Amino acid sequence: MTDIKTDTPKTEAPIRVRIAPSPTGDPHVGTAYIGLLNFLYARQRGGKFVLRIEDTDRTRFVSTSEQEIFNSLRWLGILWDEGPDVGGPYGPYRQSERTEIYRQHVDLLLANGTAYRAFETPEELEDLRLRQIAAKLPPRYDGSHRELPQAKIDQYLAEGRPYVVRMKVPPHTGDSTSSTTFRDELRGNITFEHNNVDDQVLLKSDGFPTYHLANVVDDHLMGITDVIRAEEWISSTPKHILLYKAFGWDLPRFWHMPLLRNIDKSKISKRKNPVSLIYYRQAGFLPSAMINFLGLMGGGMPTNEAASTGKSSEADIFSLDDMIARFRLEDIRLGGPVFDLTKLKWLNGEYIRRSTPEAFYEALRTTILSDSYLKQIAALVQTRVETLGEFGNLTHFFFADDVMPTEEIFVPKKRTREETLTFAAEQLTTLEATDWTHEALEPALKKLGEEKQWSVKENFMLLRAIITGSTMSPPLLESMEIFGKPRTLARIRTFLDTQKKQNNTKK
Ligand code: GLU
Repeated sequence: MTDIKTDTPKTEAPIRVRIAPSPTGDPHVGTAYIGLLNFLYARQRGGKFVLRIEDTDRTRFVSTSEQEIFNSLRWLGILWDEGPDVGGPYGPYRQSERTEIYRQHVDLLLANGTAYRAFETPEELEDLRLRQIAAKLPPRYDGSHRELPQAKIDQYLAEGRPYVVRMKVPPHTGDSTSSTTFRDELRGNITFEHNNVDDQVLLKSDGFPTYHLANVVDDHLMGITDVIRAEEWISSTPKHILLYKAFGWDLPRFWHMPLLRNIDKSKISKRKNPVSLIYYRQAGFLPSAMINFLGLMGGGMPTNEAASTGKSSEADIFSLDDMIARFRLEDIRLGGPVFDLTKLKWLNGEYIRRSTPEAFYEALRTTILSDSYLKQIAALVQTRVETLGEFGNLTHFFFADDVMPTEEIFVPKKRTREETLTFAAEQLTTLEATDWTHEALEPALKKLGEEKQWSVKENFMLLRAIITGSTMSPPLLESMEIFGKPRTLARIRTFLDTQKKQNNTKK
């Protein structure tokens, strides 16, 4: 058993917590949930809440994502004390600006023998993986460069061979008793056997750190006392503990929060629920209702028994200030909290009814009736109306949520209902993966049509029917661009779900 300290850090340390989202797409409801928990924990203890952007995975980087994360969290009132845009004493807060720091830290590990250079080529590693699969072994690095003689290392370096730096997981002798134990504040001690822990890559051959290295170095250098994150990171934690130990650093406390779930208890996914915070903002959910709803997840508030039974009650309604006063992270239950849209809608309705008429009007004018939205729509229909009164005829689908075409409208003449629904699902998959400009949407949809032998006319008529509920509309792709990706995709998913339900009732 490796000697790991599982006790908590010095209690006098001022509380510092963080969220560390990766800018890889739309801001996720899970980020807001974990953000809220960290925010509450810091506010309750006079601590600091840090926002760090973990953008070292350049293959998944989305340039607009960081700003959208900022916008969405601010919209909800989850405000950070330190971060890339507000600065702070521990910056920079964007990992891509800290690569030199990681390199220096890797050098420390190379020098003290807890990490090593591995020079295998991607082809050699692939070959190893295939051999392991063939031998029915779990694919993992076999450690063959763990003990390369110094002369060999010098030779490879002189030849300019690319390399990665890997963590030397102790003791790696196949001895099944070697393990790492850490304390999770909600679960107690968790033990991982080292033969299940790979010699993780810390520094990639492009000089960028992996998540594990950058995350640990930053949490330490930024003085983080409590790592409050989603439970999907539990299996990474032993690697992190080994890194803290390799550097000789004290551990933070670890709190792993249950994942949000769909109604059927599967991990929350866009197939079953909109997960983009942009969707909720654009579809007219109020930030106060949204934050209240997130606060209900997991049972951290004392009086929300009703939430766990699925019933809704007055006790479920509370503000961010109420949460700062009464929320207890220790009380979070491990059973996955269910992200129930029906409940969220109920809450939102309550907040709307309780708003002053002025506040309600203001909410409309800053979201679904905002100047910028209306201006874009006006420009689209100006040449298509004879009176201003016709504006509504052409544009109601931008404002109404109950758009649902009849079968006569959405099934093309030469197609069956069945094949139409199959193609609509393929359109959805294509749109999910496409940049949201009409210039990008058009070729992507046409390509799909060619592959599946759907004519351009059939293809676009179907999409038009789903999005606008009608056979006539302003230019479809421009309309979708204005309506926005999150709401467009949600509309197609609702369409598909509704049609599927009808299939089932017909059977
Ligand atoms: N970058 C990770 C994420 O995207 C951070 C996980 C953590 O909090 O350690 O969620």
